[in-house]
Amino acid sequence: MPEIRVLAKETIDLIAAGEVIERPSSVVKELVENAIDAGATAITIEIKDGGMELIRVTDNGCGIEKSQVPLAFCSHATSKIRTAADLDDIFTLGFRGEALSSIAAVARVEMITKTGDALLGTRYVIEGAKEVSLEEIGAPNGTTFLVRQLFFHTPARRKFLKTPQTETGYIHTLLQHMALSHPDIAFQFLSHGQTKLYTSGNDSAEEIIYHLYGKEIASSLIPVHAVSGSMKLTGFIGKPIVTRGNRNYENYFVNGRYVKSDLIAKGIEDAYRTYLMQHQYPFTVLSFTVDGHDVDVNVHPQKLELRFSKSEELYRFLSESIRDSLQKTELIPEVPFGKEALAETQKPEAVAPLHDELSKLDRSDASAPEQLSHTEPFEEARLLRLKELIRAQIAEDSPYEPKYDQRDAKTFVPQQKQEQPSFEQQTLPFFTEETKQQYRILGQAFATYWLVEMGEELFLIDQHAAHEKVIFERLMKRKEEKEPLCQQIAPPMVLSLSTAEEETLKRYREDFTHLGYEIDHFGGSEYRITAIPADIYGLNERQLFLEMLDDLTENERLRDTDALYLKIATMSCKAAIKGNMAISTEEFQALFDEMLTLDNPYHCPHGRPTTIRMSRADLERKFKRVL
Ligand code: ADP
Ligand code: MG
Repeated sequence: MPEIRVLAKETIDLIAAGEVIERPSSVVKELVENAIDAGATAITIEIKDGGMELIRVTDNGCGIEKSQVPLAFCSHATSKIRTAADLDDIFTLGFRGEALSSIAAVARVEMITKTGDALLGTRYVIEGAKEVSLEEIGAPNGTTFLVRQLFFHTPARRKFLKTPQTETGYIHTLLQHMALSHPDIAFQFLSHGQTKLYTSGNDSAEEIIYHLYGKEIASSLIPVHAVSGSMKLTGFIGKPIVTRGNRNYENYFVNGRYVKSDLIAKGIEDAYRTYLMQHQYPFTVLSFTVDGHDVDVNVHPQKLELRFSKSEELYRFLSESIRDSLQKTELIPEVPFGKEALAETQKPEAVAPLHDELSKLDRSDASAPEQLSHTEPFEEARLLRLKELIRAQIAEDSPYEPKYDQRDAKTFVPQQKQEQPSFEQQTLPFFTEETKQQYRILGQAFATYWLVEMGEELFLIDQHAAHEKVIFERLMKRKEEKEPLCQQIAPPMVLSLSTAEEETLKRYREDFTHLGYEIDHFGGSEYRITAIPADIYGLNERQLFLEMLDDLTENERLRDTDALYLKIATMSCKAAIKGNMAISTEEFQALFDEMLTLDNPYHCPHGRPTTIRMSRADLERKFKRVL
């Protein structure tokens, strides 16, 4: 007869781990939730090989005190609840105290953490649930987790994982949900050093929606705001014109947690019933706040499903609030005309200024020049300059070298320096062969501008503009040299095109191929894209391609090269890292090194400076060392 035994602790942990940690994205989810619970305002997630080789999560949250560190890795150790009664009042994302012990059971884990009060931080290494070291170490406030070689001693589990690309995709989707539910936190996600997602943390859900879902959806949002008793609902829903054939665009959060709930899905879809055709699903980003007593989050180990005690009430509240918002909104799209059109062009846009500039440009190009003359003088000048720049570039043999730059350089007379020295827009080719050897990166200001000392000059470089320029040049070069760097995508994107779009596609077929797209006809009006330019991989590729195709179709009156130039500029702008984002010195250095190889690193594709400078002499004058 088989003997009955109590399992060893490691075995118990391993079994428990299986429930919580299924794949790399589960690790990311737990670590990011912990970071959010720790009050972090900035979280960086970095992975290699779909998270199987490495997952690094860095936060600027409260950190863990040294004496508590080993405890955090014990199963059922949590700082978030104490008694069963607390379960009704959970405002944190975690509470089971299972995550860290589970992760430590199935991977090699290193943690570096420091609380605000402590002078030194703590480094803790635990591998396969066995403590390896605990020591003091200098560290910034907050916590960094490094999880290496997931499932290293359970190869059977490893076999269940998908390809690194697919696992990366899961993590990407997860982090999109995290970012959507926490617009006040700056997220950055990198895979093999390449930024896949970033949000500024400026608390604008609309900005994140724009970033993740594109212009079409962002421009058709209806705000929702409703309160009933202890239930609160806020967020955005899409106008019925933006629909999808599946539920992927229905995002909702209960008490800050991304969840799936048949009840909520039904509430949403019933509200839309009369607006949508069958099998069409709306876009939503909705945040519920409900009393902890009315919801049981303790149902599923990964806490994706919920149980509501007042489900009837919740369903009605949800459905009615959405229906109200839909009814209050005029659903006939407005065609901007006259004054309204003006208001539209002047509306400040938080994101993707390039796209708007370009569309303004297009409008001015058409038959309404008076629109332009009504805009702010500065705006007007900027638009004209942009237009001139593009024209000049198109006219030249080497089409993308901004010519006005050199013209400025010729007329630049050093003695004419302003009385009040200030950072000036870069107009001379300062990045010469010698200076390239001598630069020193001093650091980053306002999470956007990098200070670089080079020779007798101090430079301020806008990381977004610089990155945009670098990507733009790469794409242009690949198009010119007809040597694209393709990124295969699986599954391929299948697009159903209109006749006009098909024609555009045919017209630009070669250009698309030279950029890195692999497109084949899939029968009827369907096309299949199996590869995209590697430089834009990880963006909203489908949206970007459709947008590009649409714009090219609309812009028939522009010369072909014009239109394509504009679109490549748009793509680079979208692909570029944004300002207001912490990137590491190494990342900047790589960017800067590439910038130095460009013929004209000084301006981004739409003419804004990437670099401004101040000379040592200017500084000395300013400090009255010399007069
Ligand atoms: P839970 O989140 O369910 O409490 P975990 O195993 O995820 O359990 O974490 C255990 C404890 O470790 C948490 O309760 C918290 O006190 C601490 N902790 C984990 N991650 C962090 C972090 N990034 N910053 C600060 N404390 C953390
Ligand atoms: Mg947790």
